[in-house]
Amino acid sequence: MSSYDVVDRLAADGHDRLLIGGEWSPASDGSVIEVLDPSTGEPITSVPSASVDDARAAVDAAAGALPAWAAASPIDRSEILRRAFELMTERADELARLIVFEMGKTFSEAMGEIRYAAEFFRWYSGEAVRNDGMIKTAPAGDKKIVAIHQPVGVSLLITPWNFPAAMATRKIGPAVAAGCTMILKPASDTPLTALAVGALLEDAGLPPGVLNVVPSSRSSQVVPVMLNDDRVRKLSFTGSTEVGRTLLKDAADQIVNCSMELGGNAPFLVFDDADIDAAVDGAMIAKMRNGGQSCIAANRFLVHAAVADEFGETFSKAMGRVKVGPGLEEGAELGPMINQAAQTDLGEVVESLTGAGARVSVGGGAPDRPGFFFEPTVVQGVGRDDPTLSVEVFGPVAPVVTFDSEDEAIALANDTIHGLAAYLYTADVGRGMRVAEAIESGMVGINRGLISDPAAPFGGVKESGIGREGAHDGLNEFLETKYIAVSW
Ligand code: NAD
Repeated sequence: MSSYDVVDRLAADGHDRLLIGGEWSPASDGSVIEVLDPSTGEPITSVPSASVDDARAAVDAAAGALPAWAAASPIDRSEILRRAFELMTERADELARLIVFEMGKTFSEAMGEIRYAAEFFRWYSGEAVRNDGMIKTAPAGDKKIVAIHQPVGVSLLITPWNFPAAMATRKIGPAVAAGCTMILKPASDTPLTALAVGALLEDAGLPPGVLNVVPSSRSSQVVPVMLNDDRVRKLSFTGSTEVGRTLLKDAADQIVNCSMELGGNAPFLVFDDADIDAAVDGAMIAKMRNGGQSCIAANRFLVHAAVADEFGETFSKAMGRVKVGPGLEEGAELGPMINQAAQTDLGEVVESLTGAGARVSVGGGAPDRPGFFFEPTVVQGVGRDDPTLSVEVFGPVAPVVTFDSEDEAIALANDTIHGLAAYLYTADVGRGMRVAEAIESGMVGINRGLISDPAAPFGGVKESGIGREGAHDGLNEFLETKYIAVSW
C-alpha cells in the first residue's frame, strides 16, 4: 500500500481503467495519463488515456444502451439515483480523500464537495418522476395542443478538474433522470474521482453502457470524433470559455444541443452602508472556497471609496490568517493550486497588478515549499482600467478597486465578457435588488458569499454560458419537447 490508500483500492477493484459498456479496460493503444499530487508535484498513479477508437466504442455502448434506458420507468431511474446518493454519502470519506490526492483541496472542502455532489443525485432522484408534459386547448377552441418531453439521447459530458465529483454529478443526475445515456470525459488532471463515480453508479444499479467514463489526454482528438458522430445529440460542457467556444464550433456541424457552463469573472461589490465584518466573512467564502479555483469565485473586489481602507485592512488580516498546507494536514485551510502552470499564472497576475502601481497588503507569491502552493494575497489600489481585471484569476489573489457611486459600481461590474456570478453587500435591500437586476450575470448573491445549491438554477449569461444546471431547469437540458397536434 502506498500513502495514497484509496487510489490503491480503486486499482485493486479494477476501477482505474476506462469504463465502456460495463467493462473496465485499458486504452486500445495502451496510452496512459500520469496523475500528479499537486501538494508535492509527484506522480500518484496512471490511468488509461482513451484513444479515438475508445471514444467510438464509448459512443457505440451509449447508443446501444439508449433504447432500453429511455424506456425504463421514471421510478426505476429515480431509485437508482436515490441509491447513488446513499452510496456517495456512505463513501464520502474515501471519495474526499481521492479528491484531495489528485486535486489538492483540503479534506474539509473535499467532504463539502462530496456532500454537494451527492445532493445532485438526491435532487434528481426527485425530479426523475416530475417530467411533466402540457395539454391545452388551442385559442380557436377546436384543437388540442399536447407537449411531451423525451430524452435528448446520447449525451457527451465534459467536466473540469476544480470540482471533479460535483461537476460530474450535476450532469449525470439530470441525464439519468431524463433517460439519456452518457459518455463522461473528465479533466485529465483529475480522472480518478470520475472513475470512482462511475463505479459507484454501477453499484447503485445503473445498467451497463448507460454511463461510460473515458479520461483522455487527447481531448482535442477524441471529443470532435464524438461530437461528429450523429448518434451523439447532446453536449454538456463545463470548463473555460476558450475551450467552450471551440466545442460550440465543433458541435455546429451536427447541430448538437449544447449546454455550456463556462468561465466567470465575478465582481464582489461592497457599498458604503454594508456591514464590513459580514462583507469580509462573505469575501473569504466567495474568494477562498476551493482555493479560489471556482468559476463563481469573487474575482474583482469593487469597494466604495468611503469604506475601502476598512474593508481592505480587515480582509487582508483574514487572508493572512489562512493556514496553507497539504489537504490532509491538520488545520490546513488552503491546499495547493492544481498544477505548475496555475501557480505561475498567479505570480504573473500579482506582478502585472503591482507593476501598474497597486500594493500587495498580504501574501504575494508562492511559499518556499514543494508543490503548487500560492499565498492568500490581497492587492489594493488597483486601477479601474487595469487589464488584469478582465482575467479569470482562478486562485487566492484578490484585487481591490474603489468606486464612488452606485452607477459606477454597476458599470465596473458589467465591464467584462463574462456574466456568471456576482456578489454585493449592502444594508439596503432595495438597493441590493436594484443592483442585482442591473448586473449582467446569471446569479447574484446579496449579503451572501456562497450561492451554490442543487435546487437553484446555476449558469451564466454573455460568454459565461448557455443553459442552466440544477433545479428543474437542469432536467430540461436533457429533454426535448415534442408537440403533438391533436383533435378529439
Ligand atoms: P478547460 O476548459 O481547460 O477544460 C475543461 C474540460 O475540457 C476538460 O475535461 C478538458 O480536458 C477538456 N478540454 C480541454 N481542451 C479541449 C479541447 N480542445 N477539446 C475538447 N475538450 C477539451 O477548463 P479547466 O481548466 O478544466 O477548468 C477551469 C475552467 O472551468 C474555468 O474557466 C472555470 O471558470 C470553468 N468552470 C465553469 C463552471 C461553471 O459552472 N460555469 C464550473 C467549474 C469550472
